Amino acid sequence: TISKLKGEEEIEKVILRDGREIETDMLVIAVGVIPNTDIVRGTPVEVNRGIVVNSKMETSVKDIYACGDCAEIHDSILGVRRVIPLWPVAYLGGRVAGFNMCGIEREISFVTSMNAMHFFDYYIITAGVNTDDEENFEILRKLEGENYRKIILKDGRISGFILAGKISRAGILLKLMKEKTDVSSFKEELLDDDFGFLKIPPELRWSLLAEKVKLGVVYER
Ligand SMILES: Cc1cc2nc3c(=O)[nH]c(=O)nc-3n(C[C@H](O)[C@H](O)[C@H](O)COP(=O)(O)OP(=O)(O)OC[C@H]3O[C@@H](n4cnc5c(N)ncnc54)[C@H](O)[C@@H]3O)c2cc1C
Repeated sequence: TISKLKGEEEIEKVILRDGREIETDMLVIAVGVIPNTDIVRGTPVEVNRGIVVNSKMETSVKDIYACGDCAEIHDSILGVRRVIPLWPVAYLGGRVAGFNMCGIEREISFVTSMNAMHFFDYYIITAGVNTDDEENFEILRKLEGENYRKIILKDGRISGFILAGKISRAGILLKLMKEKTDVSSFKEELLDDDFGFLKIPPELRWSLLAEKVKLGVVYER
């Protein structure tokens, strides 16, 4: 743990509690998220790290819903329940909770962690699992100049990815991940900077594209 920062104009080194000193070019500070569940403390509503909800965003008590950073939800990719403190999850969860509270049954269909960020002119997108566990996952990596791509596969399906530098068409990877598409036959292409729909075998490409579009009308799932 860092106990002191040292430097004149900028941070030059950090001093750890055990006395060690580490020189730095840059200091990145990260904090976690602790869900605020005070509102249900002392009630029968089940709380683990967050307020436990099902796919309808309903808590363990009928007709009581939770969503957003305070909720603990099933992660579609990791297959476990966890707090996913991100805007899209809060938005989708809120929408689903709202429908159900009005008596219109809706379930949240795909939830996992996703992050998009940029440092100066450098862009990064991540989604799903991020691991170096080569025993349980197949991990594809490619570093070319400033561009980095890492794709994490399980049983031929995308469990997660990191794109850094050139991040265009991340949405296609996300779609393949969401649909649990078997990408084994074109997995090496996923590492190409110019990976896109045209690199997907035609029969699969059309089924992915056609899914929501009928006679030019896009239907909600
Ligand atoms: C610094 C920072 C950067 C982030 N960047 C990203 C990002 O890049 N991408 C991303 O997807 N997510 C990001 N997030 C996460 C995102 O902001 C949250 O996931 C999202 O706002 C959660 O929505 P929420 O409605 O659950 O909670 P909040 O947005 O926190 O809203 C809760 C609201 O409830 C109010 N409130 C609390 N207690 C009470 C009470 N007792 N009575 C009445 N009102 C109360 C609070 O004041 C607040 O307005 C970031 C979060 C932080 C802190």
